[in-house]
Amino acid sequence: MYGKFLETSTGCVVGGAGPAGMGLLFNALRTGAIAEMAQYGLIIVDASATPGIGRLGDYQITANSVGDVFLDCLRDPAMAEVFAPLQESEAYWRIRNQDQQAPLLSQVGELLLEASQLVLDHIVAHYSVQLWSETLITEVICDNDEYHIWVEHRGQMQRIRSRSLVLNLGGRQDPQCLLSGLKAQGLALPPLAAIRSADSLLRMSPQALRDTFGPVVAQGGSFSVIGGSHSAFSMLENIAVALESIGLEQVNLIHRSPIRLFYENVEQAHANGYVFDPVADVCPISGRVNRSGGLRYRALAVGREVLERGFVGTTSVRARLLQVDGSDAAQMCAASEVLQHAAVVMQCTGYQPLLPLLRRGDGTAISLRQVTGGLDSDPSGCPCDDSGKRLHGLHLFGLGSGLGVDPLLGSEPSFSGRIYGVWQFHHDASRVVIDSVLQRLADFASRPAPQVHLEMEVAHGWPERLVGGDWIEAAT
Ligand SMILES: Cc1cc2nc3c(=O)[nH]c(=O)nc-3n(C[C@H](O)[C@H](O)[C@H](O)COP(=O)(O)OP(=O)(O)OC[C@H]3O[C@@H](n4cnc5c(N)ncnc54)[C@H](O)[C@@H]3O)c2cc1C
Repeated sequence: MYGKFLETSTGCVVGGAGPAGMGLLFNALRTGAIAEMAQYGLIIVDASATPGIGRLGDYQITANSVGDVFLDCLRDPAMAEVFAPLQESEAYWRIRNQDQQAPLLSQVGELLLEASQLVLDHIVAHYSVQLWSETLITEVICDNDEYHIWVEHRGQMQRIRSRSLVLNLGGRQDPQCLLSGLKAQGLALPPLAAIRSADSLLRMSPQALRDTFGPVVAQGGSFSVIGGSHSAFSMLENIAVALESIGLEQVNLIHRSPIRLFYENVEQAHANGYVFDPVADVCPISGRVNRSGGLRYRALAVGREVLERGFVGTTSVRARLLQVDGSDAAQMCAASEVLQHAAVVMQCTGYQPLLPLLRRGDGTAISLRQVTGGLDSDPSGCPCDDSGKRLHGLHLFGLGSGLGVDPLLGSEPSFSGRIYGVWQFHHDASRVVIDSVLQRLADFASRPAPQVHLEMEVAHGWPERLVGGDWIEAAT
């Protein structure tokens, strides 16, 4: 099927070096686990020419966490030597100077990219970890106890055989998920309505938004944002700020769950007149209100303005909220009417994981079982296939995948989504994955090695860092 290709074997592949994949590498370096992982063989594969930040820095919005959250891992004493150059970095001091405020994600991106490059340079130089940048994972075959990871670099294919695979390639927003979600609520969109993914819109400048939607505003077309989370309120603000000057007067926000606001404690919530369920909305461990699902920082300010005044932030654009949980027939009817006449629908209803083709050794396709907000995975991010069988050795925890709430850390009972964020990537989420990968590699190392015959040839066409594998003349 693939003709002649180069093959390499390793213990672990980290596929995708965005904040999630890098979070695992930061944590492995911080805790010393990187040495053991590298002993078994560790290859990092990323599509980008400058791996380390993924999409986070592209979003033209404010973070939903304070600067301190991004600095926490960087100031660990174990990382002092690696991160020493950050003391001279403008990007670092910009975040340090707003460690108790929510910074712009573009600023977070600059810091994390610099920090990631220091970590990658260090582990490549000191632990013989291989970094394959500009290399695309195209297909993964789960064959018995091994993963066969097909990668493409400048038009050439290579296969990596690995005992474990940490796969965080980011997320996507499937319009079909939006349509079936609406259908389940008895709602539908007209065939010509443009469904736009918030993921791409949130990465656009105000001018780009005006260029894209100017003609719709001029024709009096209606805009609807679907969702009620951080992304939905960020979208509401970006679109209102960009299009107010060219005549946008109103945006509809269609949401299923109530709009949830975050408060440090119940007293603060009461003082702000916020109505919440004292059991379902309060984390029993931290006492925080809507700890996981509540709007924070800039999105919280926009959310409050919308709830209290009906306007988007400080703009003169009105926000019309319509809740479609089925409890209010008038709101359902109004939402149906709004959607029937929608010119633009902005999808802010969460993410699905971006995955390469996944197959079993016999060629049959594998689809991963999904739950609200991500994948049906165990605490180490190990997913299930559709039949409920766990794919041991495969770990996903980034955007679109997430992890279930850790009962020891707590969350509000009303939160049914998955947890992900940079702090988790640097700490709890990746810690469990590292332990699980190392346990698996140790188990295999204690078994007798299978006999494999490989034919060696010179690897023309691949850059030096990729050479070192074996040419294979077989089909998969
Ligand atoms: C709008 C928005 C705002 C957010 N704000 C915050 C916040 O304020 N604070 C916070 O902690 N979290 C935030 N998050 C959550 C999360 O931290 C980010 O989504 C983060 O970017 C997720 O990292 P990731 O590595 O999973 O995905 P990505 O950032 O998308 O990175 C994916 C990586 O995989 C690589 N890749 C993709 N396809 C392939 C392929 N086929 N082969 C090889 N490599 C590939 C890419 O080059 C990239 O490096 C936000 C998320 C969104 C959507």
